[in-house]
Amino acid sequence: MTCPKNIRNGPCGGVRADGHCEVKPEMVCMWVDAFDRSQNMPKYGGELIWLQPPLDRQLEDSSSWINMIRGVDEVSLPGWDGELEKEAVA
Ligand code: SF4
Repeated sequence: MTCPKNIRNGPCGGVRADGHCEVKPEMVCMWVDAFDRSQNMPKYGGELIWLQPPLDRQLEDSSSWINMIRGVDEVSLPGWDGELEKEAVA
């Protein structure tokens, strides 16, 4: 991930008209780059528009393996019930 804002669910809204990053104007927004590359993956390219649940930043710097074994990485954050994700797929 090269996004300077660490945004994982889509572009921040500050993408420049030329597709470059608002924080680092010398680089192409990683989401523009990801979308362009997804067009070369016809079978999976459409999945890029699926809404993903937000990351739990409280788990940052902890073990993903231990979090998975304990199931804490499957807990939805408040306000996220997955309904938006289902609507996006439908
Ligand atoms: S323009 Fe793109 S790469 Fe730059 S901060 Fe926003 S989402 Fe991240």
